[in-house]
Amino acid sequence: MFLVPIGGGNEIGASCYYLNLDGVNILLDCGVRYGQLPYPDYQYLTKNYIDGLWELDMIFISHAHYDHIGSFPYVASRANRASVYSTLATKKLTNLQLYLFKKGLPNLFSTSFNHLKELEILNAIDVMNPIPYLKSFKYKNLSFQIFDAGHVPGAAMILIEKDGKKILYTGDFSDKDYLITTSYNIPTDLKVDILIVSGTYLNKSGGNKHDFNDLINEMNCKLREGFNIVLNYRHLTKGIELIKLLDKNIEKGNLYPCKVYLDESVCNVVDVYEDLDYCVYSRNVQPISSINVNEPYVIVSDDTHSQMVQYLQGYSNIYKMHTDYSLHCSTKGLHEFINRLSPEKVFVVHYEDDMKFHSEFIYTENKILYKL
Ligand SMILES: [Zn+2]
Ligand SMILES: [Zn+2]
Repeated sequence: MFLVPIGGGNEIGASCYYLNLDGVNILLDCGVRYGQLPYPDYQYLTKNYIDGLWELDMIFISHAHYDHIGSFPYVASRANRASVYSTLATKKLTNLQLYLFKKGLPNLFSTSFNHLKELEILNAIDVMNPIPYLKSFKYKNLSFQIFDAGHVPGAAMILIEKDGKKILYTGDFSDKDYLITTSYNIPTDLKVDILIVSGTYLNKSGGNKHDFNDLINEMNCKLREGFNIVLNYRHLTKGIELIKLLDKNIEKGNLYPCKVYLDESVCNVVDVYEDLDYCVYSRNVQPISSINVNEPYVIVSDDTHSQMVQYLQGYSNIYKMHTDYSLHCSTKGLHEFINRLSPEKVFVVHYEDDMKFHSEFIYTENKILYKL
């Protein structure tokens, strides 16, 4: 039994972890990295461990962020024997995200997304088997169960059990309740033997890169001065949390009375959330198509150069803002999480290379074999 990170070991991006559990070939996530060589090194995998991707038995997609799904269409169209599992929310959001990326998001990334082929996306979504949290299922002599990982709707951890040995892959997860997603949720008495943990903030303080109170203060100043605001958020799923926060602050009177309008591509994401029974639209939050330019407004957009924004700039004072924050587990939360599971071995993935400190953990590197 062994683990080989094909991508996403000592890097944040291109998450893809190959597990060989007594001859059962499992791939955990199929992401891409931004920039050159976006794919995990699948050639390395097929040269050294399997004859071709068709030999994969099972693929698990933890959540619908691009660093976990970007090469999934490529893999799915070649791994035609594999059973693919994710939650229903991840399936729906993966569909949306892949098409959005195929369309290309201008001004955001220098990477080209030409590698995404429409037919491969269609096929990939089609083969995803949605499973609910906590439901156990079997494949060959392995048992599986998935848990809510927080982070974004649909994000899941997967527990794999073989002959009483428990292996948990966390994917990305969060330890705080946000307005849409809550903290991870695992059985209170869960103990594991092997933990493969997404360790982004294991050794560096994470949390909110942009303090939300500062953001509200700046927005209040500008709205009072008569500006309308275009708030740029490049990560759409996290942007939805921000929209909920703005709504809550308008209701509480903390934010200057205004309406929040969502640009078209943000609406596409919100529509999927609404379809999954998350409420995002409200009397304060509406699609940009219903904009009333005679009242103060905030536009949430992933593209500050969109036609609508350009048009509005023509006849009103627009102030552009950018914000970013993290939905990953904090340093303290990660240590609590690891202690709680009391694993024999901890393999850290999804971290930046210069962040290795804890000798008790195994910081994985791409294309290295680790015995479980
Ligand atoms: Zn993520
Ligand atoms: Zn990630």
